[in-house]
Formats: sequence, C-alpha cells, structure tokens
Amino acid sequence: MPELRYNRLNDTWVIISKERAKRPHDYPLKTEDKKKENKENCPFEPGNEHMTPPEVYAIREPESEPNSPNWRVRIIPNKFPALRPDQTFYKTSEAIYDKIGGFGYHEVVIDTPDHEKHINNFDLEDFILMFTAYRDRMKQIYEDKNIYYVQVFKNHGREAGKSLYHSHSQLIAIPRLPKRISTQIKQARKYYIERERCLLCDEVKYELEEGVRIIHDNDFFTVYSPFASALPFEFRVIPKEHSHDFTDISDDMIYSLSEAVKTAVSKLSKLLKNPPFNMMLHTSPPIREIPSDPNYFYQIDKIFHWYFEFFPRMAIHAGFELGTEYFINPTPPEEAAKYLREV
Ligand SMILES: [Zn+2]
Ligand SMILES: [Zn+2]
Repeated sequence: MPELRYNRLNDTWVIISKERAKRPHDYPLKTEDKKKENKENCPFEPGNEHMTPPEVYAIREPESEPNSPNWRVRIIPNKFPALRPDQTFYKTSEAIYDKIGGFGYHEVVIDTPDHEKHINNFDLEDFILMFTAYRDRMKQIYEDKNIYYVQVFKNHGREAGKSLYHSHSQLIAIPRLPKRISTQIKQARKYYIERERCLLCDEVKYELEEGVRIIHDNDFFTVYSPFASALPFEFRVIPKEHSHDFTDISDDMIYSLSEAVKTAVSKLSKLLKNPPFNMMLHTSPPIREIPSDPNYFYQIDKIFHWYFEFFPRMAIHAGFELGTEYFINPTPPEEAAKYLREV
C-alpha cells in the first residue's frame, strides 16, 4: 500500500509508493558528461589561475604565491555571480512588492586541482581538504553581519546542474534566512519545547536502535535514509553527538565526516553507476539581530543539529511536486538503505 510520511523537520509530507517500488536497476542510466572540456581551456586547471577572478581563500603549498599553481583547494568569486558583495545592501519596496539589493556572495570552491577527479573517486584527503575549506570560508563570510546564511552545495553530474566539467562546489551567501532553515528552526524549537530534547538527536538515536534505514556508521557520524525520504536513494550524513554549527567542526571530526561521506558516496556510485546528485549542507545560521523578533535565535545551539544531505537525481519531478511540494518516492527508504548497506 502507498503511504504518506511526515517529515517533521521540514513540515512536509512525502508519498512512499510501494506499489511501484523501483529497485536500483529499474532506473535509467544517466549518460556520462559529454561536455568534457579539454584541460588546456579549463579555468580550474593549475597554471590557468589567470582565467579566474583572484582567489579569496586557498589551501596551498607553504611557499606558493596566491593565484599561482601548487594549491590543493582554491576558492574564487563566481565569474557570473547570482549575488555580489559590492552591491549596496538596501531594503525597499515597490508598492506591495519588497526588494533587497542584489547583495551577497557567490563563490566557487575548486575542490581538486585534478581535472579527472570527481567526488565519486575522491581520496580521503580530498574530502578532508574540501570540508576544511568550507568551514574556514564560511567563518570568514559570516564576519559580514549582513549575511544571514551561507548555503554550501555541490552538483555532481550534468542532470544535477553541474555546468563545468572540472570538479567544484559552490557557496552562496544571502542576506535573508532561507525558508527551509526558518522552518527547521521553528519545527525543532516546537519539538524541544515539548520534550526538552533535540529532534535530530532523537531521530539518530532511534535510527541506530532500529537499524533498518542505516547505511553506514563510524565513531562520530552516521549515514541513513530518512524515514520520509522525498527522493529515491536520498541519504543524510549527520554527527551522532549533538552539534548545531558546522563551522565549529574540529579537525578530528572532519576526518570522521570525510570517511563517512566517502563511504556513502562510493556505495551510491557503485550501486547506481555514478548517478548525478546534489550534496547540500544544512547548518545553524549565526545569531543576528532581528528587531521584529528579538528572541528568534534563542537556544539555537540546543535545537539545531547540522547535517549533509545527498539527493540523487533519479526521478524527474513535475507538476504535482511543484504544485503541492509533496514528492512521490518510488523506492521506500528501508529498501534504499538495504541496497546501499549491502554494496
Ligand atoms: Zn580542469
Ligand atoms: Zn541534536
């Protein structure tokens, strides 16, 4: 029987369609990236640093100069930014319509100097450096008090929105809180007030006891298919101990996170033959003053719990999903987890 499942954190429902249950091989294989630029013209290649805007952050060899080769991770402003830090920050309205100047940051994290390396075949060290760069750069951007949220994400494969062949992630910093995050704060607070516990701490504890949706588990992190997975083979990588802010992550924790993500991504890649997917970080925003609601961030450190979310792009969504924000998932998360666990 089909089943509607409630995602408490996002306050949304999904339809788990067991009738039409799809196994891994029922999904059409996505084609390889055809648009394979050659290395010489690739702006993300070592030696081609002049082809990008000047770097704002890098992890590089001790004696190397900025904007020269010998880097491991390089962060640069996007050449065609969705938002720009040099725009004035103003709020205004046009009759009934509100506007804010196009202020913000849009940056590209070149997470490897290797043209042929992608997240599905990253080494542990590649993950460690990539997560370290995310942490450090987010901290720097949050010093700008007009920034309310930094969204970190990675698009893997063309169908997931990747436009340049060379592996990269992106950071978009915005002067508002995204609805998803404000909903999560609201929902997690409601749960905390009722039970005096963190919603995701409880969820992780329950999932570890149950075991049916667990994919992988190490010292500090667990990987599982959420109960109300909206997408087939979706999974979450989350700290087992309560932690609200990704930018607080220690180097030891980054090591453990990298092990968990590497294991999960290589399982996904083996099972579904390198599918396109999006990776997104969800973390607590920094505390900002909200004059209309001075207690908005009260106890944020107790209620929010950060995690990485992975959305394989196996299914195509259309009118129903856009119209209702209900997703139909033809692979129950228990089955998805079993397949991934057993890879
Ligand atoms: Zn390249
Ligand atoms: Zn927690």
